[in-house]
Amino acid sequence: MTLTKKILIVANWKMNLNVSQASLLVHKLDKKIPIHKDLEVVLAPPMLQLQPLSLQIDHRKFKLASQDAYYKDEGAYTGQVSFTMLSHLVQYGIVGHSERRNIFNESLTETAQKVAAAYRNGITPILCVGETKIERLSGETNQVLHDQVVSALSNITSEEVRSLVIAYEPVWAIGNGEPAKPKDVANAIKTIKLNVLELYGKKAAEEVRILYGGSVTPDTVSGYIRLPEVDGLLVGGASLNYLSFSDIVANAYRVGRGLTTKQDKA
Ligand code: PEP
Repeated sequence: MTLTKKILIVANWKMNLNVSQASLLVHKLDKKIPIHKDLEVVLAPPMLQLQPLSLQIDHRKFKLASQDAYYKDEGAYTGQVSFTMLSHLVQYGIVGHSERRNIFNESLTETAQKVAAAYRNGITPILCVGETKIERLSGETNQVLHDQVVSALSNITSEEVRSLVIAYEPVWAIGNGEPAKPKDVANAIKTIKLNVLELYGKKAAEEVRILYGGSVTPDTVSGYIRLPEVDGLLVGGASLNYLSFSDIVANAYRVGRGLTTKQDKA
């Protein structure tokens, strides 16, 4: 974490919580999480919850993200929601999450179209990239990251890249309680930065924000936030519990300010 950037913590609730459960979780988070000027907390609830939560949240404390959206702006696409429709509701949009790529067969091209659509509609993409276990074991991690990064950025300008957020989420570490080692995260992020540097130059590579995601808990926050390469975290399972998510936010804030966490002392 470099001191010039705000720490970014993103909660991906996936397909969990109905409208009243989501509202209750925000109510509890609001009591636990203070306004931090050096830290941004972004909530990515299911699509249906975005509108009511946009009226409920304290916008000084929380921002909203979509978990996905379609790349066309409007038209005969039954069942889809576009970034155009989300443009006044969310500031960020998660794009290319491994569950979209692997369960819904989202292609590299489609992910690139979604990144472009997000920018076209004034939404900052949080582009998820990461290798599967098989790809990792076959030594293909760097190639996979290269292909995912280069293809996703093919339709955007260097100016746009500077505000981009990339989440390094090794697929093998998601949702299973087996987080990646900080050393491996640092190496993967160096590869990602190198890809951005080769495409868009030094300034873009310095300014793009890179998060780690995969089984993050309050105990593991400091190992990642201490890394100069990491600008924040994308949290799935642990973001559904107000105590663990508020602890993650508090720990990230403390470590970002050079302090220790409860877990460091234990
Ligand atoms: C995710 O789905 O983006 C994620 C990081 O999930 P988890 O924290 O549950 O591994």
